[in-house]
Amino acid sequence: MLTPRYVPDEALQDHLTRVAQRNAEIFTPEGYAIFQAKADRAIAATDKNAVSVALQRAHKAPAMRARILWIRKAGDHFAEGLKTVAPCTSGGCSDCCSQAVIISRAEAEILAAETGAYLERNPAYIARIADAMSRHHRNFDRDTAEKYTAVPCIFLKAGRCSIYEHRPIACRVHFTLDRDNLLCRFIKGQTNRIPGLDIEPIMGNLARVIGTDSNAADHTDIRDWFPKGLNK
Ligand code: SF4
Ligand code: SF4
Repeated sequence: MLTPRYVPDEALQDHLTRVAQRNAEIFTPEGYAIFQAKADRAIAATDKNAVSVALQRAHKAPAMRARILWIRKAGDHFAEGLKTVAPCTSGGCSDCCSQAVIISRAEAEILAAETGAYLERNPAYIARIADAMSRHHRNFDRDTAEKYTAVPCIFLKAGRCSIYEHRPIACRVHFTLDRDNLLCRFIKGQTNRIPGLDIEPIMGNLARVIGTDSNAADHTDIRDWFPKGLNK
């Protein structure tokens, strides 16, 4: 059983005060100007040619695995610029690993092959996902997101990603442009806005190279695909 990681009750009032102060500071014209300057610096530090070449190769690759690995490479190049301005690389921070990480079956298959982790392929389970997807359509991701809000990822061990080299593309491009993780922390009944760079150039292309075939495109949270974590 994964225990939700909300800001503890005894620290909540102080935390809420700091969040309110931060929101008043950053969601203003001056705050937006600072974020825009950071975003510009991140884009300037990104090897845009490398991103573009990797995306082109992803779209030309005949095999699904190769397409996804090229998008992964594009995501890593995209992240290089973000790492120069984000607080996320200073180590020890993993609050963002306690939220839904929705990945496709195609990406889950790669993760399973690379790590040896048990991938849930049970037909009844797959039917349940397919049924939920057809019933809920757009709500499916929202329902999954709510279910896993503040719930640590199955691969998070001692505050670190235990499959770091193989982590999903969504994890590779997830950064905040704020100065620390204050707004990344989970508060019961409240959702924070977190300033970040638009990751559509990576995630949109990922969706496009996967397409709509359910053998590749079925998607759910990483904890659903890998209920046993790294265990076989
Ligand atoms: S996005 Fe937030 S929680 Fe995740 S590593 Fe960066 S600062 Fe930490
Ligand atoms: S796969 Fe790794 S980086 Fe991604 S949410 Fe899980 S622990 Fe965090």
